[in-house]
Amino acid sequence: MLVSSIVRNTLGIKSHVVKNVEQNESGIEVKLDIRKRRRLPCGTCGELGRVRDRLSIRRWKHVPLWGIPVTLNYAPARVRCAKCGMIRVEEIPWSQGKCRLSVGLIWSLAAWCKLLSWNEVARLFNVHWNTVAAAVRQAVTYGLEHREIGNVLYIGIDELSRKKGHVYVTNIYDLNERRLLWSGEGRTQDTLKEFFKEHEEAIKSVKAVCCDMWQPYIDMVKKYLPDATLVFDKFHITQHLMQAVDEVRRDEVSELKKTNPELLKRTRYIWLKNPENLTDKQRSRLGHLEKLNLRCNRAYLLKESFREFWNYKRKGWAAKFLKKWFWWATHSRLKPLRDFAWMLRRHEENILTYFDERISNGIVEGLNNKAKIMSRRCYGFRSAKNYITALYHCMGKLPEPELVHRFL
Ligand SMILES: [Zn+2]
Repeated sequence: MLVSSIVRNTLGIKSHVVKNVEQNESGIEVKLDIRKRRRLPCGTCGELGRVRDRLSIRRWKHVPLWGIPVTLNYAPARVRCAKCGMIRVEEIPWSQGKCRLSVGLIWSLAAWCKLLSWNEVARLFNVHWNTVAAAVRQAVTYGLEHREIGNVLYIGIDELSRKKGHVYVTNIYDLNERRLLWSGEGRTQDTLKEFFKEHEEAIKSVKAVCCDMWQPYIDMVKKYLPDATLVFDKFHITQHLMQAVDEVRRDEVSELKKTNPELLKRTRYIWLKNPENLTDKQRSRLGHLEKLNLRCNRAYLLKESFREFWNYKRKGWAAKFLKKWFWWATHSRLKPLRDFAWMLRRHEENILTYFDERISNGIVEGLNNKAKIMSRRCYGFRSAKNYITALYHCMGKLPEPELVHRFL
């Protein structure tokens, strides 16, 4: 029968046969059995052994066929394993541990989860949300067990927030490989400590670390990687500067509320965007605003001049520029900018290291956007643990097994 040969081929079974395929109201039921007089591999060591007896029938949910649910039925054999010296359950080719999903289904669901939310995948396959979660968990477990970390040279530490900044996750990236190495709940010293303890070997080769100016991270990096260069992330620094500019705008807007409420309306992005990215309309508006003696404009000019900092080739020149810029900002009579300048001053040493090791977490920005899209779907994850699983799944570049047949 065609269906049974499709099942046989896509499962890639050699020592097993499809005994029977039938359809009832719950879908397609596939009954599998052992090919006669076959010796089967031991589930622990892989050595071939003679079948001793059979366990009771187990069921696996398999990839649906034309929207019809498919279930595999099979009574696993126990074999006498000479190598292990005892009786073991056979290695079942379509099964992974105690999971009730076939290997094909696990990897199909997991593959879809890189494209859609878990809810959507559950609906698409007509399975429970928990089944999807279990599949991704299996895929990630497999991937983490089989991945090779090797020698990590540059790491980036970044935080993500879920639920409007109430739940934090710390992500650690291998900047060269552009992949997520580790993810953990929280953003405290303990969070990072967990990573450093878990990957003691891999981090021995780390030359530089890029992160935000966040004290718990700084403390832990200095403790566990005393010889690595600590570089504060360019993108985070820019973000802080943007926030300062925006604060100036907001203050000025509220001051102008009574006298000229229209003047700064919808100008937020005009001040924040790089001028080369402005639309024609925004550019002409900026041209107009620049002529007025606005505090916004002063903040804007400071922001624009700071961009030059990153272009220096030599550390010494960059340091000189920073000194000059510090003076401008602290004499600008703009408190947010002054605060920002003082923050730079406090962290100057590890900002200037950028000119020794030009690393930034911008490399993983693409990945981060992915993560942000995912956190927008976080209501679907129900817990930080699931969220972390999803992060590994989408950004970990985790290895997958060679499958006989890819259903997707
Ligand atoms: Zn064995």
